[in-house]
Amino acid sequence: MLFKSYLSSYLNYLLPRTCVICGLNSQHVNIDLCSYCCKHLPWLKNACYHCGLELQDNNSIKCNKCNDNVPMFNRCCALWQYSPPIPRLMSGLKFGGKLNVAYTCGALLAIAIKTKWYKTQALPEIIIPVPLHRKRLQQRGYNQALEISRPISKALQIPIDVLTCQRIKHTKPQTRLSKVNRVQNLTAAFKVLPHKYQHVALVDDVVTTASTIRAISKALTATGVTHVDIWCVARA
Ligand SMILES: [Zn+2]
Ligand SMILES: [Zn+2]
Repeated sequence: MLFKSYLSSYLNYLLPRTCVICGLNSQHVNIDLCSYCCKHLPWLKNACYHCGLELQDNNSIKCNKCNDNVPMFNRCCALWQYSPPIPRLMSGLKFGGKLNVAYTCGALLAIAIKTKWYKTQALPEIIIPVPLHRKRLQQRGYNQALEISRPISKALQIPIDVLTCQRIKHTKPQTRLSKVNRVQNLTAAFKVLPHKYQHVALVDDVVTTASTIRAISKALTATGVTHVDIWCVARA
């Protein structure tokens, strides 16, 4: 253990960690973010318990939409709003191979889960990263949702399952489609193998219209899951 921490501080000395936003020295252990950038990111402060969108009213815990109609999933926890510089950061993670962004976001999610979102609540029993179709996985070489999940799994001691939930349809990128087409695009896109889970955390990078997480939540609920919690980096 001592050797490991000695080695890690020596490596930090040799290769100082740089901030994923500004490129300056991060001065944090395991988090590549400097104090200035950390303070100025668009942190979600008062989000709706269910959908994770920022609330206008400081006194409520749910938005009007969720009050009328609870979404397919139990709750959605996000670090940031999808506003600058988050889109640039997420595109570096998804298309630029910047895996240190995934590890930094995962480490920050783990802190928020422990100290904020689940202070008095039971943690999910398993982490399922939103799956990529194997063709997209081959193209990209990694699943960013799995890379974000790794530090969370390590910090919270919750295992990751990448086999039970599979994306079986090679769908078009959701961002280029209308809302109706997004739902059609995702119909029967996911398959869930037999399992014994009841409380699942679904991890994704950005949740936009929530159609992907809704489709997976539906598939998980149909196979016996009672609570699906969403942990994501940004909520658009
Ligand atoms: Zn910075
Ligand atoms: Zn809501």
